[in-house]
Amino acid sequence: VLLDARPDPQLLAPLVEFVERHPRLAVLTGAGCSTASGLPGYRDEQGAWKTQPPVRFAEFVASPHARRRYWSRSLLGWPRVAQAQPNAAHRALAALEGAGRIGRLITQNVDGLHQKAGSRRVLDLHGRLDTVECLGCTQTLSREDMQGLLAAWNPDLASIPEQGPTRPDGDAPVERDVACFRVPDCPACGGILKPAVVFFGENVPRGRVDAALRAIDESGALLVVGSSLMVFSGYRFCLAARERGRPVTALNLGRTRADDLFTLKVEADCGDALADLSRQLGLRARPA
Ligand SMILES: [Zn+2]
Repeated sequence: VLLDARPDPQLLAPLVEFVERHPRLAVLTGAGCSTASGLPGYRDEQGAWKTQPPVRFAEFVASPHARRRYWSRSLLGWPRVAQAQPNAAHRALAALEGAGRIGRLITQNVDGLHQKAGSRRVLDLHGRLDTVECLGCTQTLSREDMQGLLAAWNPDLASIPEQGPTRPDGDAPVERDVACFRVPDCPACGGILKPAVVFFGENVPRGRVDAALRAIDESGALLVVGSSLMVFSGYRFCLAARERGRPVTALNLGRTRADDLFTLKVEADCGDALADLSRQLGLRARPA
């Protein structure tokens, strides 16, 4: 027996109608968009942490142990993030953009998969994991170069295989004492190196928030894809859209923090649903 995994057309009809009614959308995407690319989300369908919460910014800055722990796990988890490929959700959103239907795609994801799929109007709200920045000076380096440093400074650990699922920030479980792990410091000033992503407990830079609010101002509606909106940095854009009289629709499996704000909520796999939507709108995939 073959099961038809495609979403019920009746379930999708209101979503298709929503997209047709609002020719210029702002889109907000979250971890659910990348799970089919092998990057599991942090939270379950009830919006609760699946595992231990990620390291907070203040702890990362204050504690050498926290940095050893972060980078030792990231050393093992990064290859999976670097090799991840866009899935049907990313491709359909790129096709929607190619058809001129998306004014701005605001993403909470740090994996760069929207860009890999060919989206160009992307606002990386929480930064990008493929870049590392120094907290002491303006130096940045690529995460690939950082990987080379991490491996060179810790040759024992570099050859250990992954011991469990990697999280969307490239955090992989390592059952090992990290006391001897050596964390490279900034080649320019000796400062603390940190991935160029917004950590939990850290503020999204004001300029990015303003750019996202402008995108909502300039759009007719907001479409949320694959986000539980448990983090305020995403939730506030749903509030802002409602304050501006913009309808908000969500495509997400499971509960979200903004369920009472939505004009429409579709509970379906975002890859299946968006692929179907894009077929119904007659869109073609965009070359990356
Ligand atoms: Zn520096």
